[in-house]
Amino acid sequence: MGYERWFVRNADEWYVFAERLKLMPCPHCQVVGTLIRHGYLYGFDDSSPRRKTVRARRVFCSNRKARRGCGRTFSVWLADKIRRLGLTTGCVWRFLQRAVAGSILAASRAVPCHLSGRTMQRIWKRFDLGQSKIRTALAARCAPPELPVRTPAAHVLAHLRAAFADADPIAAFQHTQRTFFL
Ligand SMILES: [Zn+2]
Repeated sequence: MGYERWFVRNADEWYVFAERLKLMPCPHCQVVGTLIRHGYLYGFDDSSPRRKTVRARRVFCSNRKARRGCGRTFSVWLADKIRRLGLTTGCVWRFLQRAVAGSILAASRAVPCHLSGRTMQRIWKRFDLGQSKIRTALAARCAPPELPVRTPAAHVLAHLRAAFADADPIAAFQHTQRTFFL
C-alpha cells in the first residue's frame, strides 16, 4: 500500500497537526524544523460535484531563505477523500455494500453519484485487486467475523465493519492505517 501517509478527520485535527510541523522530521529528508504550510489540494467529488472541495493540505519542506529543507512537498489528506477518485469514502462504502449484495451495475445506479457505470466498474476492480492487502491490515486489528460462506468481497466488508465501529469505516481505515483504502 505504499509509504505511510497522514490523514486528518477534520479541521481541528489539522490545526493540532499544523502546530507540530516545526517539531516533525520531513518524511523525505528527515530534517527537523523546515516544514511549513503550503496551501491546499482541491478536487471534485460527490460531496460537491459542481464546486471544488478541499481534499488535502499541502506541506512544504522549505529550502528558501537559507532553510535546510529539501524543497519537496507532501499532502495531509482528509480521511474521507481518496486519491485519484472523485468519490468520498462514504459513497464508496455505500457502493461496495450494494455491489456485494447485488450487481455492480445495479449498485452504481443506486448510489447517487456523478460517475459512469464504467468508472464504477473500475472502482470495483481497484477494490478487488486490493482485497488481500486490506484483509491483512484488518487482521492485525481484529479477527475476521465468523460468517456463513459468502463471497470474499462480502467477507472483507464485514471484516471492515467489525474492525471499525464507525459510520464511515473506510475513512476510519485510512485514518488508522495511514494508507488509502483503494
Ligand atoms: Zn525535506
